[in-house]
Amino acid sequence: MTYRALLCDLDGVVYRGATACEGAVEGLSAARAAGLPILFLTNNAARLPGEVAGHLRALGVEAHTDEVLNSSQVAAGYLRRHHPVPAGRYVLPVGGPGVTAALDEQGIPVVEPSEVLRRGGSEIVAAVVQGYGAAVGWAELAEATYAVASGAYWVATNTDATLPTERGQAPGNGSLVAAVAHATGRQPDLVTGKPHAPAFEIALQRLGLPPEDVLMIGDRLDTDIEGARRAGLGTALVLTGVHGHADVEAAQRAQQPDHVVRTIPDLAGHWAA
Ligand SMILES: [Mg+2]
Repeated sequence: MTYRALLCDLDGVVYRGATACEGAVEGLSAARAAGLPILFLTNNAARLPGEVAGHLRALGVEAHTDEVLNSSQVAAGYLRRHHPVPAGRYVLPVGGPGVTAALDEQGIPVVEPSEVLRRGGSEIVAAVVQGYGAAVGWAELAEATYAVASGAYWVATNTDATLPTERGQAPGNGSLVAAVAHATGRQPDLVTGKPHAPAFEIALQRLGLPPEDVLMIGDRLDTDIEGARRAGLGTALVLTGVHGHADVEAAQRAQQPDHVVRTIPDLAGHWAA
């Protein structure tokens, strides 16, 4: 199989913390030299695409802002495509600045949590997009709860229970989503990040290619590989991150990658030179 574009996870594939993964700089640069478009797909909804691209360049990986797709951008792209906001209504962002930025980028009208009451109350909220943000507190969760209880379409960028920090596992977006779910008795209508379908739908739309032409490179079987497989993409597990050979052997068929390689340069035979 010859692939025509790469969809590339970040953490555990391109970098781990402040350092580049083995082979990532050379491997991605060789793919670019071969003319392959690269789209970086991350479930992290908090960092702005420009910040991510800057981080990649600092590590020596060529990257442009429009080559980064985060789960907030997936949420915004999906809403625009499938759930256009009716006139006079808005989307309520609950999370970090990345959530609002992604909605703005798609021209979707936004009402910030602190503005809902002044602008007419929860009836004006057509949808809620909830992504991780360190500054999210009770007031923001309360606005999300009022809107969700009033029937707003509820989108979560991811439902990871925890967020790894230097001091251990902290509450991730899934824990904040769980607070709203507990209060309303509802679950999100849509989750956009990997392994969920919207991440791959919007990524393929951005690349303008059919799934079989695109190779997903990831380090996790349960998100990158399972989601990409289900969406019809080629899949490659690199062993620079979370999962290893033993995990592949133990995995169910739905999580089996097409290729297992130690580092990205080992994939070079799979795209046209
Ligand atoms: Mg990863």
